[in-house]
Amino acid sequence: MSDTGLSRRSMLGSIGAGAGLMGAIGPSTAQAALLPEPKASAAFDVVVIGTGMAGCAAALEAVGRGAKVAVLEKAEENRAGGNSAYAAGIFGMPRDDSQESRKMFLEDFVAKAQGRGNAKLYAVLAANARADLAWLRQNGVQFMPTEGTMPPYRIATVTTAPGTFMGMPRQLKAMRDRIVEKGGVIVFGTKARQLLMDDRGAVAGVRALGADGVVDYKSRSVVIAAGGYAGNKQILEAYSDPNAGALMVRGIDWATGDGLLMAQDAGAGLRGLGGVMALHISAVDPVETSAGNPFAAQPFCLSINREGRRFMDESKGYVAHGKAVLNQPGQSVALVFDETIKSLPGPSTNYATFQRLGLKVAEAETLEQLAKLIGVPVEPFLETVRSFNAAVKNDSAMDAKPPKQQLAYRIEKPKFYAFHPLVPGVTLTFGGIMINESAQVLEADGRIIRGLYAAGEGAGHAFFDDYIGGSALTNCLVMGRIAGRNATS
Ligand SMILES: Cc1cc2nc3c(=O)[nH]c(=O)nc-3n(C[C@H](O)[C@H](O)[C@H](O)COP(=O)(O)OP(=O)(O)OC[C@H]3O[C@@H](n4cnc5c(N)ncnc54)[C@H](O)[C@@H]3O)c2cc1C
Repeated sequence: MSDTGLSRRSMLGSIGAGAGLMGAIGPSTAQAALLPEPKASAAFDVVVIGTGMAGCAAALEAVGRGAKVAVLEKAEENRAGGNSAYAAGIFGMPRDDSQESRKMFLEDFVAKAQGRGNAKLYAVLAANARADLAWLRQNGVQFMPTEGTMPPYRIATVTTAPGTFMGMPRQLKAMRDRIVEKGGVIVFGTKARQLLMDDRGAVAGVRALGADGVVDYKSRSVVIAAGGYAGNKQILEAYSDPNAGALMVRGIDWATGDGLLMAQDAGAGLRGLGGVMALHISAVDPVETSAGNPFAAQPFCLSINREGRRFMDESKGYVAHGKAVLNQPGQSVALVFDETIKSLPGPSTNYATFQRLGLKVAEAETLEQLAKLIGVPVEPFLETVRSFNAAVKNDSAMDAKPPKQQLAYRIEKPKFYAFHPLVPGVTLTFGGIMINESAQVLEADGRIIRGLYAAGEGAGHAFFDDYIGGSALTNCLVMGRIAGRNATS
């Protein structure tokens, strides 16, 4: 980091008039007692915390406006990019720039979140997503040439090049390169620990811990883009579910909600953390939690717990399934299917992915053999399949216990298969720092904390219970860019 060790006088000189006031009064940390005074400090216009999609969008926007920007990242450079680097790389957006398409986008988001998501934020995403994706392209981020769809939602999608689950690390690197090209500084292996505040109650920088010890990164504004809290078992157990400590983490296990905690120490309100409705959960292979996700097969299969029994309507989809698995004995299940189901497009794609990744798929000529392979008692399992098969009429099995509303297929044609074991894993967390549509951080009573902005997974409590695939990255991009713009104004 080139600026470490700047004297107080020269540092204040470099950030101009606002710094004079800050220097005269002297910023203090939100938790002054916990970290010692730093030996070194540096001055910037904007400090961004995090190198995921939200942080990169904020920093890129700010350097583009001529600001002197530092990005702090607690991971080392080879692990940069947070959960954004693990993402499939799908971004959702309105189908075109018409009011009608934006309205459909907004309505579908509101419906998906059962009316409990952040509709004000969805309106901002609808208004900006297409222009911001074009801006990413201008900044060297590459996408697959054609737009996709995501039925039943009335939105369009684009996927980062060269394709699903392959593009994000490369495209985030392109963004980091562009930030540095435009004069930004990215400091890896440096954990933001506390916000600095001046005596007017405005945020005035970040106290961070890195290889050089404690350093103050002073600035006129700070953007928190430190991601979610899927890796923080204390937060999950306290707010989501007492069982949530058993959840696997599908992305980075160092997504520990640091941004939420730092913001809260500085007076910010938090919203949307309560219950499993604040989590996106999927039942995944415990060895490969990111890509070992049979989400397309799941609604067609029978989900069988350790007692050999069904426990839910599998047609409700993979997130409802992931949450239900959390309450099953041992929190481990098998998704059982037969040769007919295996030949369907979604299940066959998931089966091929598991084969490619070398993940376990149990295969047997008889249901008795399958029961033994997946370690469930044979008789209850056979009775479960028998009674389910007898209840299948057309597409549903409404007399089965529990009933299945649609996608009901008899399990009758050998071979018999099971994705097993599957355990619940968190994809992303929905609770976050309270912000307004300008990405300004708010206290619980709605007051603005001056100088503090937040964006991405850990801000805005955008979603509730579930989300439309692709909307998390779009949220990071749009709100990150807004945070970067307003942090420089
Ligand atoms: C397997 C998987 C697939 C997904 N696929 C998609 C998809 O296709 N489309 C979609 O929309 N969403 C997807 N998601 C969700 C999406 O990836 C995330 O919600 C999004 O990337 C979060 O971005 P972010 O910038 O907010 O945080 P992150 O990308 O997590 O970045 C936060 C960064 O902040 C750093 N950080 C944290 N604390 C500190 C600190 N104290 N000091 C310094 N640095 C800190 C972290 O190390 C990290 O690098 C997926 C998630 C997973 C796990």
